[in-house]
Amino acid sequence: MSTLVFLEHHGGELQKGSLAVLSKAASLGGDVAGVIVGSGVDGLADQAAKHGAATVYVADDPKLEAPLPQPRVDAIAQLVADKSIETVLFAQSILAADIAAGLAARLDAGLNWQLTDIATDGGDLVGKQSALGDSVVVDVGWKTTPRIGLFRAGAFDPSEQAAAGTVEAFSPELQEHSLAAEMVEQAHAEESGPSIEDANVIVAGGRGLGEPEKFALVEELAKALGGAVAATRAVVDAGWYPYSAQVGQTGKSVSPTLYIACGISGAIQHKVGMQSSKTIVAINKDPNAPIFEFADLGVVGDLHTIVPKLTELVRARRVS
Ligand SMILES: Cc1cc2nc3c(=O)[nH]c(=O)nc-3n(C[C@H](O)[C@H](O)[C@H](O)COP(=O)(O)OP(=O)(O)OC[C@H]3O[C@@H](n4cnc5c(N)ncnc54)[C@H](O)[C@@H]3O)c2cc1C
Repeated sequence: MSTLVFLEHHGGELQKGSLAVLSKAASLGGDVAGVIVGSGVDGLADQAAKHGAATVYVADDPKLEAPLPQPRVDAIAQLVADKSIETVLFAQSILAADIAAGLAARLDAGLNWQLTDIATDGGDLVGKQSALGDSVVVDVGWKTTPRIGLFRAGAFDPSEQAAAGTVEAFSPELQEHSLAAEMVEQAHAEESGPSIEDANVIVAGGRGLGEPEKFALVEELAKALGGAVAATRAVVDAGWYPYSAQVGQTGKSVSPTLYIACGISGAIQHKVGMQSSKTIVAINKDPNAPIFEFADLGVVGDLHTIVPKLTELVRARRVS
């Protein structure tokens, strides 16, 4: 079984989710490789080699600087053909989803997305996928090779391996149409602290905050806990918080150790993005709010009183 994992990078670092998918692929055995595509990315290969890649293929070319999907489709399609790759795996991101879809179209291959796990079954691969609003987990497979799989954020944790793999440079032949798109501008939201995909602690705010300025309460608690801030779609749609913080069906899926939901009703579309959090704490003034049906700890009361008090207690504990 030969598997290739796409290793995404930002700001000179390999994405944790990609390394986690690589570690998972390595745990299944077979011939596991990683691929890094970009400009000035040579230095990233060693890190990937320590996470279970027997070979790390690196395409380092100034033409590949912008994080655009089509040149990456060219690069991966070439490796699939040259190295007889049977499975290509991605960690969920906007770029990865674009590449996976482009690759599936290019290779006429099957793509299973939103996977939460994968296992071998008598020489074949079986993926786990949540369905019906995450109320059931189904087995999914592929009829032909190459198989393409895209994993949900937070599906696995990265793990370092004792044996380090080798690094092999390659020069993909880029199609003319793949170079037609151009990155005009890249903007980064100012962020401090961990991203919601990587955070161990998430404090999320919903419409119960009452007004956008009250997100400061959530931010203060997140800061005291060293965590990240998330939001519901209701408040994102209202322009109270950026879309990048939205958790749920049409936002991000997260699975932190602790998720504190402040003024969030617990609609199914929000639940599907955070229900795999290890411990869920809900603060809501309505004792009948649906979130209490799946929270591990529920606090019935006004968040405007409870959240500042909680922040104060956390700060006091941190100092002592
Ligand atoms: C196709 C589709 C996709 C969607 N995708 C998403 C998604 O990705 N993510 C998402 O979050 N939603 C999504 N939604 C919207 C979802 O259905 C809910 O409308 C949304 O999650 C509700 O957000 P909320 O909990 O902030 O607001 P509300 O449902 O209005 O809940 C606010 C809660 O705050 C409580 N509250 C009010 N005041 C206080 C107070 N002072 N102290 C404590 N508690 C208080 C209330 O009791 C209430 O339970 C989607 C909907 C559709 C149709």
